[in-house]
Amino acid sequence: MAEPTVDQDLCIGCGTCAELCPGVFELRDDKSWVIGPDQCHTCDCAAAVDSCPVSAIEIR
Ligand code: SF4
Repeated sequence: MAEPTVDQDLCIGCGTCAELCPGVFELRDDKSWVIGPDQCHTCDCAAAVDSCPVSAIEIR
């Protein structure tokens, strides 16, 4: 199963991933955290990966 990870050093806290996938990502202290790595049931988080402006999200 694909699991998203966020590089905290790269994340600028724009919130896009949490808006796209609120069950997967959550913004805390201006950083995105993966709260539900198995909660994407549509695209394996490809939308979040493609939308992150600093390419901080990877799928493992
Ligand atoms: S889309 Fe990228 S930069 Fe924006 S909050 Fe998510 S991980 Fe951080």
